[in-house]
Amino acid sequence: MEYQALYRLGVERLRNASIEEADLDARLLLEEACGTDRNYLLCHGENQVTKEQHDKYLESIEKRSRRIPLQHILGFQEFMGLNFRVTPEVLIPRQDTETLVEEVLRFLHDGMRILDVCTGSGCILLSLLRYSNDCTGVGCDISKEALRVADENARRLGLTAEFIQGNLFENITGKYEIIVSNPPYIESGEIPNLMEEVREHDPLIALDGGRDGLFFYRELTEKAGEFLYPGGMLFFEIGCGQADAVSEYMTKAGYRDVNICRDLAGLDRVVYGVWSGGKPCLIN
Ligand code: GLN
Repeated sequence: MEYQALYRLGVERLRNASIEEADLDARLLLEEACGTDRNYLLCHGENQVTKEQHDKYLESIEKRSRRIPLQHILGFQEFMGLNFRVTPEVLIPRQDTETLVEEVLRFLHDGMRILDVCTGSGCILLSLLRYSNDCTGVGCDISKEALRVADENARRLGLTAEFIQGNLFENITGKYEIIVSNPPYIESGEIPNLMEEVREHDPLIALDGGRDGLFFYRELTEKAGEFLYPGGMLFFEIGCGQADAVSEYMTKAGYRDVNICRDLAGLDRVVYGVWSGGKPCLIN
């Protein structure tokens, strides 16, 4: 079969399955199956594909039609211009999270110590390390399986980071200049309403932020001071409508200069503040 005809067949099957970005997904899966790039469709569309390429492609199209995320089929997601391995054990890195990384980068200096809590694929920590000099990075996560993926990502990117398994700060010692986290923040009751790709294929523990979605912000804000140098900074990614609550937790817990930043869609996406160095106090 011709490359271009196979592409059209893929698009049609994905459209029939109501996949939103049918054209894009069909093209990316075809490039993966044939080892080609974007230009191939434009310049060599009439070339024949081999039987293996044909079968591999239609198998991927069938998976995507069942709403398996593109990233799980490809095994990768680009984030901050870097390629991250993803598996069903980690949250697929989101473009929104680049806003968090970019905000941290504004304050990151050479040689700082960074702690990424709920590191998942390691995308935040590893991007920060990649775009800075001589920083030390620790990532923690409750999921051993996620940390295996994070470790593989560090190796693939040629970066050195330490990954520690534990519930939030459970196994963390020492002090840091920067603590960053994109914790699970979806309200438990909202999970059934998420897109099937997210609901069925992202790990539930990476999504569920408890009854009001704010559980992890309370936990982290209350405890982070113990692991921050005075003047150190805490950065969170937040979900829709959570900026005020999270800013208030931070102010009450002893952070100053608490700020909210928006993502490219204009939604509040990041809250950060400076640890005043006092004793961490309880939020109520
Ligand atoms: N830190 C990872 C990310 O932002 C995982 C976040 C999570 O599991 N909630 O992609």
